[in-house]
Amino acid sequence: MSHRRPPPPSETPGIGGERGLAPGVVSHCGSKMVTPGDGGRFLVVFDFDETLVNESSDDAVVRTAPGQVLPDWLKASYREGQYNEQMQRVMAYLAQQGVAESAIRTEIQRIPETPGLSALLDFLRAHAEDFECVVMSDANSYFIETWLQHAGARPLFSEIFTNPAHFDPSGRLVLMPHHDHSCPYCPDNMCKRRILSDFLERRGQAGGRYQRVFYVGDGANDVCPCLVLGDADVAFTRRGFPMHRILTHKQQQQQEPPQAEGGVRASIQPWSSGQEIVEYLQKIVQER
Ligand SMILES: [Mg+2]
Ligand SMILES: [Zn+2]
Repeated sequence: MSHRRPPPPSETPGIGGERGLAPGVVSHCGSKMVTPGDGGRFLVVFDFDETLVNESSDDAVVRTAPGQVLPDWLKASYREGQYNEQMQRVMAYLAQQGVAESAIRTEIQRIPETPGLSALLDFLRAHAEDFECVVMSDANSYFIETWLQHAGARPLFSEIFTNPAHFDPSGRLVLMPHHDHSCPYCPDNMCKRRILSDFLERRGQAGGRYQRVFYVGDGANDVCPCLVLGDADVAFTRRGFPMHRILTHKQQQQQEPPQAEGGVRASIQPWSSGQEIVEYLQKIVQER
């Protein structure tokens, strides 16, 4: 196993009738509701693999295996759309091979950050009154907590939405699916659109509407959540990665103006370094 499976064209998220958004969710941050300087905070959503860290953590953990590779029978056991299940088998195999938690922790801590990430996190820390940060990732809670704590970045994030994980008494990292959902475009264990729309709805009900939402990602599973973004929001898509390709293609294909639900309404800003995102957000802060 190397990277998460590449998305077939059919996986490109679209709109789905009953699977569409609950009324009111789409417009949480639409331009009609935003007036400059209205004082609302900004939400910054980060993916983890290849967005916060410069590698897939699932690939990194394979380096703890004997010979630093998985046996062919294990690689061959992957079934389409069952990535979480496959990682459970990988973690069971590592436990059987006697790979200790300390070895896994060390390997996860060693994963390098993406270029310019420190500058971006420093900026967000310095403007904590303006920006709330969360993680939405199909990795797992153990990898993400371990890496963020080691990097000293954990306090910056108010919530981490991912697959729960814990070590059982035999020393195996047990992974659970994040949730059930009905989105036909996402893996069985996680639809980030569902996560984001539920989160925004929950915050909205508590009176915590965001002025704008910024979504920073790289992967195919970062496309679905970008379809709940409004036209004041921004999808930061990593250059040369599937999210940028899919979202750009989708934007080019859609009718103008985009439909109220499920079209790409957010602006797309490609990034290669966190520094580019800092420059964008600096302007936002100055203009508010
Ligand atoms: Mg990713
Ligand atoms: Zn989805």
